[in-house]
Formats: sequence, C-alpha cells, structure tokens
Amino acid sequence: MPHTAHILHGRYAVVSCHVERPLDDVVWRRFAALQQRRPGRFPIAALMRPPGLGEDESAWLERAREAQARGPFGLHTHWTAPDHARPTGGDPAALVREQVHWLRSAGLEAELFCGGGWYLDEPVAEALAELGYTDCTATAFRPDYLAPDAAHLQLDEPAWLELTSGRRLLELPTTHSIGMLVRGVFAADHRQVLHAYFHDTDLLDRRRAAALRAGLTLLGLRRTPSDLRELQRGLRPEKTMSFAKSRG
Ligand SMILES: [Zn+2]
Repeated sequence: MPHTAHILHGRYAVVSCHVERPLDDVVWRRFAALQQRRPGRFPIAALMRPPGLGEDESAWLERAREAQARGPFGLHTHWTAPDHARPTGGDPAALVREQVHWLRSAGLEAELFCGGGWYLDEPVAEALAELGYTDCTATAFRPDYLAPDAAHLQLDEPAWLELTSGRRLLELPTTHSIGMLVRGVFAADHRQVLHAYFHDTDLLDRRRAAALRAGLTLLGLRRTPSDLRELQRGLRPEKTMSFAKSRG
C-alpha cells in the first residue's frame, strides 16, 4: 500500500460496490468471495444499503461486520425503498443521520457515503460533514436515467465541497462503471484518482462478473491500487468548490 505522503503524486485507483442486497445469500456469497479475492489487488469498499422495513437487522449487522473486516465500509442510503433509491419525499438528511446513529449504536463506523440514485442535497452534505463522513455520490459521468433537472453532483476529481454552514465535505467522486473499465476508457485517463464502482447484483450475471474481474485486474496493472479509506485519510485535494454552485 502506498504511504500517505505519496498520495499527492501518484495515479491511484479505488473500487467500491453498492451492496444492494446484502441479505440475499447468493448475492452476498459472490460479493464476499470477490472482496476476499481482491482482483487487481483492490480492497473493495462495501457501501451497504441499510435494512428496510421487515428486513433482518441482526443478520445485516453480522454481514456488515464481515464486510468491514475485509475492506472499507460505508453507507449507501436508498431513500424510498430497497428497490427505489432516490427520495420521493420526507427528509433525506434526517434519514442519513438516523442510519448513521443506528450503525454507531451497533458499534459500526461507516465513514463513507454514497447516496442511492446518486442523490445528494446540501442538508445531506451538511449531515455527512458533521458526522465526519466522506462522500462518493458525485459522478464524473451523467447517469442517463436522471431527468435533466434532477439533483445530482457532477465532478471529475476529488474536491472539498464548501457548505453554507462553513463546514467542508471531502468528495471522492465515482468516475467509472464496469462498462467503462471494460472498454478501456481509463487507459488514457490522466486524472489522479480513478474510482470504479459496481453493484453486488452485477455478480449474478456471469459475464458481467467476469468483465469486472478482468477490468479490475487490468486497472491494477495500470494504476496503484488504493482504497477509499486510504484516500479519506491521506488525500487533501487542492480543489475547493462551493456546494451551492456545483450542482450539475
Ligand atoms: Zn443503490
């Protein structure tokens, strides 16, 4: 693993998984095996969707602890329902605070966050900064299912987001999907940090799973493997931007 002091100079890559169905035994076994195997030598961050209504909290916590022992661990909030990521009402920031407090009460520290459906608003960002989290909800690409006016943060590289309260939030944007890795889009990419993501449910499809392993292996040969926790601790981006002015 690179030392913190080197982080400002190298070309790094990190990998995260949106763990959507941690209580599905088949999906979980495949995700756990991949996290264990570390293709490309990448510790894979598990950004886990907390249990919804009627889902087994203790089984969830047990699996969250297993994931945390294998790599970085974070929260992936689906605001509406397990199968509906973006909020349709309510108070998104309050839900994030509630989930973080629930994790803490169970002895789990997540410290990384990715909003379901790539949703992030300023109150959510304020809550994350206050709770000491680092965010990965910004994307370098425009997700094609989002309406043109949908709340979404588009960002190419890590940055500090300055918030109205005066707090700032470390943002480590998600830059590449599996498809982009496989197409070799990263080969000519000069960004300091490349952040690839996938969904645990991608592992149900053998071809997608094989593509992911191949893509990560290649990525690990081209860039120094790092992980979100290491960047959270060691990366201090030069770029600072106002959250209010950064909305894409
Ligand atoms: Zn999700």
